Amino acid sequence: MSARPDWLRVRADFPVLTRQVHGKPLVYLDSANTSQKPQAVIRAVDDFYREHNANVSRAVHALGSEATEAYEGARARLARFINVPADELVLTSGTTFGINLVAYSWALPRLSAGDTILLTRMEHHANIVPWQIVAERTGASIKVVDITPAGELDLDDLRAKLTGDVKLLAFTHVSNVLGTVNPVAVICREARKRGVVTVVDGSQALPHLAVDIPSLGCDFYAFTGHKMLGPTGTGGLWARRQHLREMPPFLGGGEMIREVRFEKTVYNDPPHKFEAGTPNIAGVIGLGAAVDYLETLGMDHIHAREQALLRIAEERLAEIPGLRIFGQAPGKAAVISFLVDGAHAHDLATLLDLEGIAVRSGHHCAHPLMAHFGVAATCRASLAFYNTHVEIERLAEAITKARTLLA
Ligand code: PLP
Repeated sequence: MSARPDWLRVRADFPVLTRQVHGKPLVYLDSANTSQKPQAVIRAVDDFYREHNANVSRAVHALGSEATEAYEGARARLARFINVPADELVLTSGTTFGINLVAYSWALPRLSAGDTILLTRMEHHANIVPWQIVAERTGASIKVVDITPAGELDLDDLRAKLTGDVKLLAFTHVSNVLGTVNPVAVICREARKRGVVTVVDGSQALPHLAVDIPSLGCDFYAFTGHKMLGPTGTGGLWARRQHLREMPPFLGGGEMIREVRFEKTVYNDPPHKFEAGTPNIAGVIGLGAAVDYLETLGMDHIHAREQALLRIAEERLAEIPGLRIFGQAPGKAAVISFLVDGAHAHDLATLLDLEGIAVRSGHHCAHPLMAHFGVAATCRASLAFYNTHVEIERLAEAITKARTLLA
């Protein structure tokens, strides 16, 4: 393992973290929503536009080759980061696009009435709504795997619901609300035994854990770049080669073809077959820089740092009377969803904002999970390695102050 980073120096790589908000130093605790970006990523995007800007895979001129090389180089780095071949990695605008691609290209042509799509109660809307669209159009049904009171996936319920009619199981690697880290390899093994195809939402996993996709045994793995230090509008979908070969394209246009005639078009090979139109070139290059940055810090160091911060935050918040935390799964990621008795989540988040503290309040794009807990909204403090002990103390003090104001 590489040497443990000096976290205070690392923090200095993130320009926005020096900001003042409402006259107070910013405490950014909304990284599960979108992470902040280090100088290296900002520089990579800036450098592309200043020095190399051209479209990819089209022009033979120097700038065109440089842009293509940088773009494909970023794909290769991203693929190495998750240990998959670069030609199995479709570059997308994020998880939402990736899951929709699987829904439209894999599921829509294959499912029909009598088939079942299995989801879990802890999914983000991006891993619910595309499947509802597929179900509406094909006549397939949706079933939902339950969670335990601690917020873990109920594996007995999963096994019971993996019946012969289930064709596809879509679930999150890490819950954006509860922080639960699901045992992906175990779940995929159960699904595979029964011939069920698996789609994993890796949005909240890649920024915090070392992810080795082949060892997970899934069929599809979707993720988003902006939560892992990269620019917005970037991400990827890994799929088994056989699926990529068999799936029809989702969007048609330039880049995804080999030859177009009015009588017939021959598609490009995967992954390009699924990448119609001009992509987010600068964004993907920025995402490549984000991967380099994460690798330099070391995912094991990042994980250890965030777990240490989580322990401190949980202990400190437990001292606040009337504060309830949603999601207590062992080994959870550094996401703390909470409510304080008598305070509405939005009021609390507004008062925290006045103290310079950014937490998210609302349903976190997980209405069914909120309904399960019988609440309309929670506050969510999501930590990243660039947060500090002092910031956790400021959060705890600000909640304590807000509690007295709202009581
Ligand atoms: N899935 C999970 C678990 C998420 O947390 C998010 C983002 O909040 C998404 C999917 C959607 O990601 P994006 O909006 O980047 O497509």
